[in-house]
Amino acid sequence: MKKATFLLAMVISTSIFAIQSHHTHKLLEKKNEYQDDGDQSRVFNSSKNNHCLLKFRIPIELRYLPYGYNTLYFITNYVDQDPGINSIKDWGGGEWTYDSHRGTDFALWPYPWLTMDMGLAFAVAAEDGIIIEKVDGNFDRNCGVLADIDENAPWNVVKVRHYDGTITIYAHLEKYSLTRKAVGQTVKKGEFLGNIGSAGYSDAPHLHFEIQKNGEILDPYLHDLWETKQSYLNPIVIGGGVHRHYPKLNPVTVGGGIPNGVETVDECSDPETIYSHYRFKSGEQIWVTSYIANQTPELKFENEVRKVKNNELLFGWDPSIVTEPLRNRNFWGYVWATDGGWYYYEAKLGDTSISKTYFYVEYRKILGLKILDFDPNGDFFHNTTTENRDFKEGEERTFVTYFHDANVGDQIQGEIYSPDGTLYREWGGTIENKEWTFWSEKVTFDNGDFGPNKYWVFKSQYNEDEPEYTFFTVSNDITNKSDNSLDEDQTLEKEKLIISPNPVKDIVHIKIPDNFYKNDLEISIHDLRGRKVYNTHLKTKEEGNNTMLDLSFLNENLYFLLIKDPNSGGIVFKEKLVKLK
Ligand SMILES: [Zn+2]
Repeated sequence: MKKATFLLAMVISTSIFAIQSHHTHKLLEKKNEYQDDGDQSRVFNSSKNNHCLLKFRIPIELRYLPYGYNTLYFITNYVDQDPGINSIKDWGGGEWTYDSHRGTDFALWPYPWLTMDMGLAFAVAAEDGIIIEKVDGNFDRNCGVLADIDENAPWNVVKVRHYDGTITIYAHLEKYSLTRKAVGQTVKKGEFLGNIGSAGYSDAPHLHFEIQKNGEILDPYLHDLWETKQSYLNPIVIGGGVHRHYPKLNPVTVGGGIPNGVETVDECSDPETIYSHYRFKSGEQIWVTSYIANQTPELKFENEVRKVKNNELLFGWDPSIVTEPLRNRNFWGYVWATDGGWYYYEAKLGDTSISKTYFYVEYRKILGLKILDFDPNGDFFHNTTTENRDFKEGEERTFVTYFHDANVGDQIQGEIYSPDGTLYREWGGTIENKEWTFWSEKVTFDNGDFGPNKYWVFKSQYNEDEPEYTFFTVSNDITNKSDNSLDEDQTLEKEKLIISPNPVKDIVHIKIPDNFYKNDLEISIHDLRGRKVYNTHLKTKEEGNNTMLDLSFLNENLYFLLIKDPNSGGIVFKEKLVKLK
């Protein structure tokens, strides 16, 4: 039995923060949805507004705002004031437009597809008027690179004429979401016209808003047509969130900035998954994200996690200032809190705009358990990805219990149980120094009776309370076939099918051995009563042998994961799967 080792590197006993990253990017994919709708007007009036007396309201509304969010969109393109081909200029003298763009684009961001699917954003009439045109029923999930999208793809649109003859256009709307009012009926200022979508020549859900008068395009900014004064730059924290997993985003529509190794959505127009979470246990990884628009050089973009109780800074980071205005930008980071209580995450853009999100951390003495194939250096958090729970007979592993707030004289204990529930190994003792933060124990599995892929249990206790557990498997050496006591359900015993992590909180990775199966497979998950709670097909020919399942919807429990050959109906693999909260 080994003695507990010292932690050398930890200097903050109550909290630790870890790496963070950010990305800057200037533009979303440009929104290019000019369509020849029969109106031949191409005159760009950049002189003055000499015939529109109306004042318009901003033509987009949100049904509600998620916690921590100030808005869910920003302007990606203004009207192009430059009549020349291949030259552009927006009303502020910048280039936040594209050639011949006739309107203003309000792009949903940072979760455009989720926002669309939840119906959170919709177009409203900018002024009282009469509906003069409605087009509906067109495909509304165009996504990706504009070069790949049909320029003539039809959009869904509502056009409204106002009393002075001015016409406003609301385009790219979601299919079948349009107002039930017919052409010829009147609408009031602020009245619903349709949900924001991505119909037509569009790369992501956004509202194209356009004003026409007597064959001219009017820019509401240049001609001062908004009822409330709008500025060219509107620096804003769009929102900040707290998550139990990095959000699963669309790399195209988020505009880049997704960290390496983080999962993204499968299909371009699939909705994002946010994993919002506001209650954690000490030692759990807490992800934070923030999204801003229109950062200007004089504005700092600060991100902080603080304790509510005493405002103590747990984590603070100031992404670099910018040398010129940035259209949009995002930040992500993660943090571990060990103390219990309320915290808040604040994202701030200068003193202009703030997002503040509160979350709660439940105190527990044991921060977590790890099974490592090396001696821990004391940095629990640094080693989150190197855990190894799956190993063969004869191999040695280090079992580590991480804790905090150590008191000299406290008792700590670790136990390993074999699959039949008998105690295989135990260790423990008295904490001798309050600087201790973990107890490690080397264990070699030298028993020849281990079957393949069996579950073992690692438990640890601190002062008799707060028991913790995790699971791991011990397999025989694959060359030692004669010793295998085969589980009758398993035919994949010779190969290494990887289910990781297990236990799982949300995303589980499944890897079928490359040379094992060439047919499509059916993957299903069953609860303890045998009811199927999840089902999917793995098309191994097209998708390869890897897949990831999002099990965040499952309740905390024990399940069985079955892999079947749909041709034969036979089960080729069966394994226990532990779902955590
Ligand atoms: Zn547009």
